[in-house]
Amino acid sequence: MAGSKFATEYNFNVGGHMAAGRQGHKVDRIVIHHNANTNDVVPGVWQSRASSAHYQVTPTAVRQCVDENNTAWHAGNWAMNLRSIGIEHLNSTGAPSWQVAPETIERSAHLVADICQRYGIPCDRGHIIKHSEVPRSTACPGGLDIDKLVNRARELMGQPADTSAPVPTPAPAPAPAQKSDGGYLSFDYRGNVRNEPTTKSGVFATYDAGAWVKFDGYVHGESVNGSDKWLRSSRSKKYVHESVTGGVYGLPDLGTVNLSAPASNTPQTGSNGLVAQNGTYKAYFNMKIRTAPSLSAQSIDTFDKGASHSYDGYVDNEGIRWISFIGDTTNKRVYVARRKLDNSEIWGECY
Ligand SMILES: [Zn+2]
Repeated sequence: MAGSKFATEYNFNVGGHMAAGRQGHKVDRIVIHHNANTNDVVPGVWQSRASSAHYQVTPTAVRQCVDENNTAWHAGNWAMNLRSIGIEHLNSTGAPSWQVAPETIERSAHLVADICQRYGIPCDRGHIIKHSEVPRSTACPGGLDIDKLVNRARELMGQPADTSAPVPTPAPAPAPAQKSDGGYLSFDYRGNVRNEPTTKSGVFATYDAGAWVKFDGYVHGESVNGSDKWLRSSRSKKYVHESVTGGVYGLPDLGTVNLSAPASNTPQTGSNGLVAQNGTYKAYFNMKIRTAPSLSAQSIDTFDKGASHSYDGYVDNEGIRWISFIGDTTNKRVYVARRKLDNSEIWGECY
C-alpha cells in the first residue's frame, strides 16, 4: 500500500468506486477538491456514489480512502485520474463562499509536501491544481485558497513562495464526456438521480460535478429543456436527465417509459404504513439492514457506521422508526432502524 505518513485513518470502503492500478501512468499531479459540504460525510457517500478520492482532510484528521497506487474517481476526467492523487477538503462554511478552515489547509499542506517529495512532483501551481482547472465545468474547490496551500507546502519543504502565474482555467472540454471502454459518463453539474425519468419523481441520490456513473442507456421520459432523454444507471436502475452530463454519445436507446403506469417499488401509504419522505440517513453505529421493519426480520447486510444513504420513506414499528429505501444490491425494499420513538436511543441521523 502506498500512502502518506500524515494519514491517520486508512482503508475506508469506497464501494468499489475506484480502479486498480494506474494503467502504467506515473503520478505527477495533485488535484484539490472541496466536499461542497460542511458535514463530514466522506468517505461514506462514496459507497452509494460513483466517485472517490485518495484523501479526505478535515481540521482534525487526514483520512486515506484509496491506495495511491490505485486510480480514484475524482477529477471527472479519466486521463487526469490516472496521473493524479485527489485530495478532498471538508468545508467550514457553506454556499456561496465554501471556505476551508486554516487547520484543514495546514494538514493538507503537510500532505501535499509529503506527496511532492515522495513522487518528485514540483510543488507549484502547474502541478497542484484545482478540480476546476481540469477541463470540466465545476466550481470545485469553492473558496479554498490553493495558492496559500501550495506556498505553505513549499515552506514546509524549505522552498521560497511560488510566484509563477496561477494556472488559467481552461474552457470546458468540447469533446464527448464518454469513456470509450463503456457507458461511463461524468457529471458536469451537480445533479439528481431520480426513481423515475421525471422531475416529479423522488430523488434517489445526488451526485456532485465530476462524479462518474455507469449507464445502460437512455429512456424517453419527461421533456426538460427540450430533451426527453434520461440516462438509466447500470447499478441502481434509476434515472438522471442528460443535461447534467456532457451529453449522450453512443449509449443505446432503451425506449419510452410509461410514466402514468404505477412506478415499481413506490412507497406504500396503505396497509404497511410506509410514509413517503425523501432524505439522507447517516448511521452512528454499524446497523443491520433488514428485509422488514422488525428486529426479528432477516438481516441481509450491514450499514456501516458513518455511512449514509438516501431514503424515500419511513415506518414506525415495534416502538422504532425505520427508514426505508430500495437496496443497491438486492433492488428490494430494505429497512434500517433510526431511533426509538421516545428518542431514548438514537442510531442515526436524517437530513
Ligand atoms: Zn472536486
